[in-house]
Amino acid sequence: MMLKDQVALVTGASRGIGRAICESLAREGALVVATARNTDAVHSWIVESGELQPRLIPTALDVTDRAACDRVVDEIVAKHQRLDILVNNAGITKDGLIMSMDDEQFDAVINTNLKGAFYMIRAAARHMVRARRGRIINISSFSGLAGNAGQANYAAAKGALNALTKSVAKELGKRGVLCNAIAPGFIKTDMTDVLPESLKEGVKQLIPLQRFGSPAEIAGVVRFLAGPDSSYITGQVLSADGGLHM
Ligand code: NAP
Repeated sequence: MMLKDQVALVTGASRGIGRAICESLAREGALVVATARNTDAVHSWIVESGELQPRLIPTALDVTDRAACDRVVDEIVAKHQRLDILVNNAGITKDGLIMSMDDEQFDAVINTNLKGAFYMIRAAARHMVRARRGRIINISSFSGLAGNAGQANYAAAKGALNALTKSVAKELGKRGVLCNAIAPGFIKTDMTDVLPESLKEGVKQLIPLQRFGSPAEIAGVVRFLAGPDSSYITGQVLSADGGLHM
């Protein structure tokens, strides 16, 4: 229970990695505000989480809505007098080759994966700086480090998220706020389930561990970055990718 009495906010918590992060932080004793656009989906997995249920609070939030980002953060602080951990996990892909990628495809991915994180960090930082403590954890991607054919929009958003992470770490470090990113490789979720089997098999051959990761394996890294054992780590992009990015 290393996060007992702490309050966490997780975006993109309706399924996949976001759900695993919420469960992992709640298991450590944190009160977790689990946010997504689809709150029905959040409600339905929370119902299945047994003894963790009282520490999981479903809340509607679209991270592309700046006013909603401010409002949700302010409401948490008003109600619980604190916000210790922010996990920016919400993300989408809209893959396509660069020559046929339209503006909407590019903007949508930037708005969710990068601007959404910016809105949330700005809102949370105001409170964390006042409290002189806080952990901000951004879920980035292997694509943001290495680039990826067919994902120019996504790689640009995640690469910028890594730079945002480092800038926030430099700006807020002296106020006790730590900011890090995690760069998952291929993780088994709805996001990767839609990829063609032949592509997935090809990618597996490139991964030294020869398998895709699980949402729980990313949640474990979040738990580490949220907890006391990472108190001297900030501004880092930690790869959790089975060795793919070496
Ligand atoms: P997923 O299963 O597709 O889940 C994405 C989550 O983001 C959902 O909960 C979705 O909920 C939420 N979301 C999307 N747009 C949103 C918005 N505008 N506002 C709020 N929430 C929004 O994907 P995942 O695989 O778990 O991915 C989670 C994160 O890990 C993403 O940032 C992704 O880029 C990153 N990642 C994943 C992999 C992988 O292999 N799976 C690899 C590298 C990085 P609603 O639709 O209900 O809002």
